[in-house]
Amino acid sequence: MTTTGEPLDISDIPPTPITHLSETEALMADSVSKFANEVILPKVRDMDEAETMDPTVVEQMFEQGLMGIEIPEEFGGAGMNFTAAIVAIEELARVDPSVSVMCDVHNTLVNTAILKYGSEESKRKWLPKLATGTVGSFCLSEPVSGSDAFALATKASKTPNGYKINGSKMWITNSMEAGFFIVFANLDPSKKYKGITAFIVEKDTPGFSIAKKEKKLGIKASSTCVLNFDDVEIPAGNLLGEEGQGYKYAIGLLNEGRIGIAAQMTGLALGAWENAARYCWNDRQQFGTLIGNFQAMQHQLAQAYVEIAAARALVFNAARKKEAGQDFVQDAAMAKLFASQVAGRVAGSAIEWMGGMGFVREGLAEKFWRDSKIGAIYEGTSNIQLTTIGKLLQKEYTR
Ligand SMILES: Cc1cc2nc3c(=O)[nH]c(=O)nc-3n(C[C@H](O)[C@H](O)[C@H](O)COP(=O)(O)OP(=O)(O)OC[C@H]3O[C@@H](n4cnc5c(N)ncnc54)[C@H](O)[C@@H]3O)c2cc1C
Repeated sequence: MTTTGEPLDISDIPPTPITHLSETEALMADSVSKFANEVILPKVRDMDEAETMDPTVVEQMFEQGLMGIEIPEEFGGAGMNFTAAIVAIEELARVDPSVSVMCDVHNTLVNTAILKYGSEESKRKWLPKLATGTVGSFCLSEPVSGSDAFALATKASKTPNGYKINGSKMWITNSMEAGFFIVFANLDPSKKYKGITAFIVEKDTPGFSIAKKEKKLGIKASSTCVLNFDDVEIPAGNLLGEEGQGYKYAIGLLNEGRIGIAAQMTGLALGAWENAARYCWNDRQQFGTLIGNFQAMQHQLAQAYVEIAAARALVFNAARKKEAGQDFVQDAAMAKLFASQVAGRVAGSAIEWMGGMGFVREGLAEKFWRDSKIGAIYEGTSNIQLTTIGKLLQKEYTR
């Protein structure tokens, strides 16, 4: 209505809600939810306790087409869009954030790197493998370089047939399962970050080794390792894109990847909320009534749900802007920052809503909370997201 009471003409405004899914995206959400609940859920607690990803889960992720979501069908992938990947990551995290991050890193960082920057030959060589059976890792961080990612010390040098890599990487997701590693190394340190170049390293290459598997607070089933590169020789064809462009590729990939982590965090928040809400509204009685009947509990459940819905709106807005070819860097940073904050708050409150039952390792409440902490750390810490958002706002508002 207008202020004069006339109906407002909104015919030129597309009425699609930001979280509306296309038919194929909705099918993706349904099928991943079914797969996650039927196949992954029964294994979640054991995988967490064993700090290991069940190999059958990895196999079935490939069988379900969840490791090649955006890879075109001609290369054996599902040929779907970015938002379909976001939907899958979110639905997986609702059940297990560890499986979700495997899917996220593989699809949004590794597959995208080849799709965006790989030569035709490398696409033909690698994409069918990445879509059907080879897990990928994205190797940027090092002991000396985390937030300051381009201070990396791993070096590459030219050989008659290609390149040689020396150095080590730290915190590398999927590395126990992976057969394919995108490795950032400096080919010309005199050029500082402009020497950084991206290479492809296969697991069995001599000189490559997994030095240590980290024991972590959360996402324990997701492997995180230190990798060593001792005179690792690779052929010229394993250069990804162009020499000296690695820093640009890493920035571009992480901007997109952040939307994936934001989706992981909204899925986690929803999973934690649903787990506790069902308990409050169905299972636990105190003072002669279900605890979810107390208004104090309902208000907290309602407040948390509103926050999750707000985080999801940011995530889907960033994903749609990326797909529309618009500038989405600030949107991705806002989505990742806020979704990880919401995940931490909701998963923490969910433990309290379940009382002692939220605190024990029988259920999943405590696991969701442990898993939520990583959202504020990887693919750029919360401070780094705030710095990105702040810089872009300053640019916009400076006269
Ligand atoms: C489980 C896990 C999985 C990971 N997976 C991968 C992976 O697959 N591939 C990969 O390459 N990396 C991966 N990482 C690395 C991850 O991206 C880094 O941990 C992250 O970038 C932060 O770096 P850091 O741990 O060295 O922290 P630091 O950079 O040492 O930061 C420590 C603190 O200092 C703050 N800080 C640093 N610089 C600034 C600044 N300029 N302004 C304000 N505050 C600042 C940070 O916000 C943070 O609070 C993973 C990490 C973990 C824990």
